[in-house]
Amino acid sequence: MRIDIVTCVPSLLDSFFAHSILKRAQQGGFVEVVIHDIRDYSVNKHRTIDDYAFGGGAGMVLQIEPIARCIRKLQSERQYDEVIYLTPDGELMQQRMVNQLSLKGNLILLCGHYKGVDQRVRDLFVTKEVSIGDYVLSGGELAAAVLADAIIRLLPGVLNDETSALTDSFQDNLLAPPVYTRPADFEGNKVPEILMSGHEAKIESWRYEQSLRRTKERRPDLLE
Ligand code: SAM
Repeated sequence: MRIDIVTCVPSLLDSFFAHSILKRAQQGGFVEVVIHDIRDYSVNKHRTIDDYAFGGGAGMVLQIEPIARCIRKLQSERQYDEVIYLTPDGELMQQRMVNQLSLKGNLILLCGHYKGVDQRVRDLFVTKEVSIGDYVLSGGELAAAVLADAIIRLLPGVLNDETSALTDSFQDNLLAPPVYTRPADFEGNKVPEILMSGHEAKIESWRYEQSLRRTKERRPDLLE
């Protein structure tokens, strides 16, 4: 998979992809993440990429030309499955959506800034609009990082144990069960004995019951 991120603040993203699982995923060849600075596609000497909104009002708007140039260049080089604009009025990101996107080949993630991008970018180039929650961030970079992270950890081979992602919250519409590690006894707080019994079937069923209980308590909507 290849993920191209189009942004006007590339430095916000550079370090995010240079650590931990995301770094290993790239080094292992499971994903290629390429970050593009919209300013590199501005044609004026001040490298401006924004302008006042037609009709007036507070806030600048990202112009269409530099973004169009960037996306067209990428699309001339390879086929993309989706051009995704991160935006608070997009479809709410959920695990189901992430699972589906993890099966795609190449994705472009477009980050807005200021008041957002000129509507014509959305009309002409964007194929999917995604929100990471009902709140407004200053830019789409964090949202793109959240989406890319959630996708990349699902790619086969990225996690050491392939089954790990399947037992995380929201797969099967359940929250994950509690987890424990050593010591088995911390100041009298003991790990449930069943987990140390070595009885796989009983452990599985205990975990399932815990997941169900936690989901009923915290997110009954997932069970509806
Ligand atoms: N004027 C826009 C509105 O009210 O919908 C908000 C613009 S916001 C200040 C600037 C950029 O941050 C957006 O273009 C988008 O790319 C990103 N952004 C902000 N909140 C987001 C969210 N909840 N999900 C995804 N992207 C978000």
